[in-house]
Amino acid sequence: MTQILDGKRVGDEIRNEVAAEIAALTGDRRRPPGLAVVLVGEDPASQVYVASKGKAATIAGMTERTLRLSAAATPGEVRRTIEELNADSEVDGILVQLPLPESLPERELLLAIDPDKDVDGLHPMNVGRLWSGEPGFVPCTPFGILELLERSGVELIGRHAVIVGRSRLVGKPMAGLLLAEHCTVTMCHSRTADLPGECRRADILMAAIGRPAFFGPEHVREGAVVVDVGINRLDDADEVQRLFADSPKKLRAFARRGSVLVGDVDYPKVAPIAGAITPVPGGVGPLTVTMLLANTLLAYKRREGME
Ligand code: NDP
Repeated sequence: MTQILDGKRVGDEIRNEVAAEIAALTGDRRRPPGLAVVLVGEDPASQVYVASKGKAATIAGMTERTLRLSAAATPGEVRRTIEELNADSEVDGILVQLPLPESLPERELLLAIDPDKDVDGLHPMNVGRLWSGEPGFVPCTPFGILELLERSGVELIGRHAVIVGRSRLVGKPMAGLLLAEHCTVTMCHSRTADLPGECRRADILMAAIGRPAFFGPEHVREGAVVVDVGINRLDDADEVQRLFADSPKKLRAFARRGSVLVGDVDYPKVAPIAGAITPVPGGVGPLTVTMLLANTLLAYKRREGME
């Protein structure tokens, strides 16, 4: 029987733990943790993400502030906003919503964030801390995946993890985390010579490339743990019919909305041979915002000398 790795359940569990810790802190008359989100421009997807992050932070009992700057903001204006937040003693976590408008120097602006408030874990200081085994902040998606695996009872020590995708947001930090958990790690990417062969050697396969239903049974060894990080919106009726001919629930969702969310894994074909698998949606997705809350609480505790 394939184990379904339920990100919604684990996400709710962690959110409840974070909220309970904050309730205890404020019960002791301490200030609540504070999250600040910087949103530049009007990208519709970014607006949705920022709103959901803000809502989750408020529900958990944090203070939350979204600073909105116009798409025409200069690098100096964005930098000044970040520096004000760095200096604000009531702000523990700063998140600059990506992507920034193309006119802005993303790398330079991320460097302006105080690494001890960098709850997205993208500052080079935190990248270095992860790889040198020092306490820092880890990007929320791989951090969430690690929690999901651990809280679902997936054994990591000595197992072979194959990660496909080498982005700084997902693949690379995932490798650092799994290495620290004593996995043997293989990283694959678009130039890997025999991708199906590498993938079939995995005890734990992480698919993070952004290609709908790319990974099929030819990539998966029987009994492997499959983590599907991809989130792809599919609106081609023929493609949806081809992929989900035997999944009435997905077909109904498509008929209702005109699109469906699909991971990087061909779930209907892979699930029967996997030992455990994350669904899309409801697998990795719910953990990303959750771990932003966990990271913000962690930043608070470190800044307050409690950690
Ligand atoms: P990027 O586009 O930054 O990176 C994609 C990676 O996949 C690259 O390393 C690329 O290789 C590799 N790749 C692309 N095509 C292939 C291929 N055919 N074979 C092998 N490797 C390939 O993506 P992200 O890491 O940001 O995101 C990956 C997916 O995860 C997306 O679907 C995204 O939506 C999703 N995502 C989900 C999150 C969640 O909360 N669940 C959070 C973040 C991302 P190369 O380096 O050689 O170009």
